[in-house]
Amino acid sequence: MELIFEISKEGRRGFIPPKMDVKPYKIESKYTRKNAPKLPEVTEGDVVRHYTNLSRLNYAVDTGFYPLGSCTMKYNPKLNERVASLSGFSEIHPYQDSKTVQGALKLMYDLGESLKKITGMDAMTLQPAAGAHGEYTGIAIMRQYHRSRKDFDRNEMIVPDSAHGTNPASSAMNGFKVIVVESDDRGMVDVDELKKVIGPNTAGMMLTNPNTLGIFEENILEISKIIHDAGGLMYYDGANLNAIMGQVRPGDMGFDVVHLNLHKTFSTPHGMGGPGAGPVGVKKFLEDFLPVPTIDKKKDKYVLDFSHKKTIGRVRSFYGNFTVLVKAYAYILTMGEEGIKHASEMAVLNANYLRTEISKILKVPHNNICMHEFVATTLPLEEKGIKALDFVKRMLDYGIHPPTVYFPLIVHEDIMVEPTETESKDTLDRFVEIVKKIYDEANEDPKILKEAPHTTPVGRLDDTRAARYPVLRWKEE
Ligand SMILES: *Cc1c(COP(=O)(O)O)cnc(C)c1O
Repeated sequence: MELIFEISKEGRRGFIPPKMDVKPYKIESKYTRKNAPKLPEVTEGDVVRHYTNLSRLNYAVDTGFYPLGSCTMKYNPKLNERVASLSGFSEIHPYQDSKTVQGALKLMYDLGESLKKITGMDAMTLQPAAGAHGEYTGIAIMRQYHRSRKDFDRNEMIVPDSAHGTNPASSAMNGFKVIVVESDDRGMVDVDELKKVIGPNTAGMMLTNPNTLGIFEENILEISKIIHDAGGLMYYDGANLNAIMGQVRPGDMGFDVVHLNLHKTFSTPHGMGGPGAGPVGVKKFLEDFLPVPTIDKKKDKYVLDFSHKKTIGRVRSFYGNFTVLVKAYAYILTMGEEGIKHASEMAVLNANYLRTEISKILKVPHNNICMHEFVATTLPLEEKGIKALDFVKRMLDYGIHPPTVYFPLIVHEDIMVEPTETESKDTLDRFVEIVKKIYDEANEDPKILKEAPHTTPVGRLDDTRAARYPVLRWKEE
C-alpha cells in the first residue's frame, strides 16, 4: 500500500479555511519556520480511504475469530466505548479539585469494590497500567512487607515452569532470585518438588490458577499452606480470570496479592499496544503498602487517600488509565453478578467443546477437563517438516487469527487456544473444520503450510528484525 506521503499532490486540500477577518500579527523571524512543513497534500476523501484501507490490513476481534491463548480476545461491547466517551469522563483533568470530579472518583471507588468482591481481596489500587505492571507492583508490595519486618533474607521467588514469562521478569525486576518449580505429568505444580525448594529465603510464590495449560491446580490450598508456613506470601497472576470469575476467588484459595487484567477479562480492547489496566488487590495486612493515592469514601464524599505510611510509592502518574477503568466498570454493571458467572461458565464450556473436537485431530497432551483454554501440539507433524508456526500461519489464509504458539514452554510445538465466551458454536465448528483442513494439507502438501500465509498483505516477517530495527518514521528520499 502507498504511504499517505506518496499519494500527496501539490495543491490538494481537504479543508479551506475562511478568509481571515483579523489583522495579521507579525511574529519575530527567529520563531518562524524557514521551510514549509512536509505534510501530505490530500483531499478529505483521500484521507478517509487511506486510513480505512490501512485499518483493513489488520486482523481484529471485530473482524473475526481470535483464539489467542492467555490473551482473552473476547468481543468488547460497543456500549463501553460510548460510556467512556461521555464528556463527563473524557473531558476532565486529573488536576481538577476532587470536589468537581466526584462522579469519576465514585466510579473508581465502586470499580475497586466490585473487583474486591470478585477476587476476595480487602483493598485495591487501580494505578498499574498493564498486567506486567500490576505484577511489578504486587511483588514490590511483597518485598516491602518483608523489609518492614526486617526479614531481609527473603530474596527468592518461586515460579512454576508453566508460568507466563512476565512472572519471572517481575520477580527479577524487584531483585528476587527466581526459583523454578516443575510441573507434574498432569500439568500441575509438583508439591514434592515445591517442598524441596522452600526455605528461610522464600519470599513467596507467583502462581496462576487455572495455570497456563488451562488446568486448575487441585492442590492449591496445600500449596498456599506450604508457602505461608515457610513465611512467604502467595501472589496470584489474575490476568486471565475468565474461567473463575463468579465461581471461586483467589482470596479464598490463600492468595495475599492479586493483579487483574481489565483489558482481558473485563472486556476492554487490547492488543496492538492499546492502553490496559492491571489493578492490584491485597489482603488487609498489606493495605498500608499500596501505591498512593487510593480512592476512599468519607461519609458521602469521595476523596484521594494519601495516608498509607508504608506505601511503595506511586507506580503511575495520577490514577491509572482512567477510560479503561470506565469501560471495565460499564462491563461489570451491564453483566451483573449473574452475567459474570454465566460468562465464565460459557468460556469454560466453549474451551472444553473445542478441546474435545480438536483432540480428534491434533494431539492434546493434557486432555482432561480444562478451564478457559487448552494446549494442543503439532509435534507428530514434525516428520512432515511442519512446525506449530507453519500450522497456525496457514489459519490466516482461512480468515482466522492464529492462536498463541510456543507458550507455555513445557509443551513442545504447542498451540494454545482460548475461544472465550463470546463466540458461538457455529464459529467454533468452523474453526474445527479449518484445523482439520490444515491437518490434511500438512499430510498431503506440506509446502502450502511452509509458505503460508498466501492471502495476507505481507507473508512471513523477520520477527527479530521487526522488533530490533523497527522502521517507524517516513523519510523523504
Ligand atoms: C497477558 C498476561 C500477563 C501480562 O499482561 P500484560 O497486560 O500484557 O502486561 C501476565 N500473565 C498472564 C498469565 C497473562 O496472560
